Parts: sequence; structure tokens; C-alpha cells
Amino acid sequence: MDLGIAGKWALVGGASKGLGLGCAQALAREGVHVLMVARGAPALEAAAAELRSQVPAGTQVQALACDITTAAGREAIFAQHRDFDIIVTNAGGPPPGDFRSWDRDAWIAAVDANMLTPIELIKASIDGMAARGFGRIINITSSSVKAPIDILGLSNGARSGLTGFVAGLARSKIAAQGVTLNNLLPGAFDTDRLRATQAASAVKMGKSVDEVANSRRLAIPAQRFGTAEEFGQICAFLCSMQAGYLTGQNILLDGGAYPGTF
Ligand code: NAD
Repeated sequence: MDLGIAGKWALVGGASKGLGLGCAQALAREGVHVLMVARGAPALEAAAAELRSQVPAGTQVQALACDITTAAGREAIFAQHRDFDIIVTNAGGPPPGDFRSWDRDAWIAAVDANMLTPIELIKASIDGMAARGFGRIINITSSSVKAPIDILGLSNGARSGLTGFVAGLARSKIAAQGVTLNNLLPGAFDTDRLRATQAASAVKMGKSVDEVANSRRLAIPAQRFGTAEEFGQICAFLCSMQAGYLTGQNILLDGGAYPGTF
């Protein structure tokens, strides 16, 4: 299927690896010009260089190493390219832990990274998208928004704030101006982040990493973890011309792990 978005410009956060990289790859392979952002230059440059060899002729794949959660990082992004048609908001998730040990600074860091950064990126872009009559905003959040995970209280809280904000904005007059906003909620995807949380759980539970990974995998109806590639392809579809009537939704990608009917 031709997604009809070749030649558009996309900003993808957290794009050097994992889910962000999957999104950047799927979009660029459709001929979307992509600005990939992550903090570490070497991994980012390597990912961008590999992707450049896989995209249609004329597709630009740019890389910018910066911290997207800071004002300076966002200024650098918009200095490099001003008008994005597609924005995939994504940065690292907050650390797990017990809420009794989180002070105000820990909460502010989580809210900054996982709520206010996406809102700042939306604020800087959405009126331009509306004026041009096309925009797609995808926020990578978490299945923890729908089914909270006890040790991920910072994520449950900060991402729920973003979810409420986006629900209202998606249904504002922006909806009649060609701009959609949706959230993608990953369950368990095989990325560095998943491997790091499994390693932490293994230490806590006195088990091997393989034991922890296997019991998590077997608890998923699909009996496997998701891949960044399939995550990216669903993101690209949500950014497509065909998805213009799909807005304000929270789309769970979890291999059936969430046990509810809705
Ligand atoms: P990952 O650790 O594999 O990749 C994270 C990427 O974000 C890297 O490219 C890293 O450089 C970049 N990054 C981190 N902080 C940044 C910052 N401040 N500025 C710019 N770039 C930054 O993680 P992932 O598994 O791809 O997860 C992506 C998001 O999805 C995270 O917020 C994570 O919490 C969430 N999530 C992931 C899973 C999963 O199973 N993988 C499940 C639920 C939620």
C-alpha cells in the first residue's frame, strides 16, 4: 500500500535504537524525509548511515545528537528544520522504583521527559501543520497508561498526564484541519530498554535474565516480544493519508497481553 506521505518531513525522537529507530526506518523507507534525534552521536550516526542505504532516491535522512527533553535540544532541532508534517515524540522512559524514594526532582524529570517534552514539540509544530492542512503526531507512551505497572509509577503518572492533554487537543478544531494526534502504547518489545528492565528484575528476584524473560514472554498470548520493525510499520500507517480519520486514540501494541475487552 502506498501510504501517500513520500516527501513529507518527520521528526523522530529517541531514534538511534529501539522503537524510535523502528519508526524512523519505516517512515524513511516510505520516502519521508526524516530528522532522527537521540543523545548519543555514535549510535545515532551509525543508525542514520545504515538507513540512508535503504531509502528511495532523494529521501533525506538527517541526524542530530541532542537531548530532546531540554529547551536547548528542541531549539537545535527547529533550527535544523522548521516545518515538520509528522512528529513522533519519544525519549527514554523513567526509571522503575518505589514511590517512597522519589523526591520532587525525580517527578519533575519524569514529567519533563514524558509529558512536557511531547507537549512542547506539539506546541511548536501544530499550528503550522494546521495551516498547511496536514499533520500527524504520534506519541510513544506505554501500555502502563492502560494497565499500570506498580514499579513504573513515574511512567504511569507522567504518561497519563500526556494522554489526557492529547485527548482534548485531538478533539479541538485542529481535527478539521487535517491534523491527527494518536498515542502508541507498547507492551513488551525486544529493545535495550526491555532487556535493561529484565536484568534489573532478575537481580531483584534472584533469577537469571533468561528465566525472567521467558516467564514474561509466556504470559503474552502471542508468546513473543514485539519487534521495533513491526512497531515502526504501525506508526507509519498512523502517519499515512489513509489514517486521516483516526485521531485521539490510544493504540495498544502488546500481543494480546492486556486482558480487557476494551
Ligand atoms: P531504548 O532504550 O531501546 O531506546 C531509547 C532511545 O531514546 C535511544 O535512541 C536513546 O538514545 C533515546 N533517548 C533517550 N533519552 C533521550 C533524550 N533525553 N533525548 C533524545 N533521545 C533520547 O527504548 P525503547 O524500548 O525504544 O523505548 C522507547 C519508549 O517506549 C520509552 O519511553 C520506553 O519507556 C517506552 N516503552 C518501551 C517498552 C518496551 O518494551 N520496549 C514498553 C513500554 C514503553
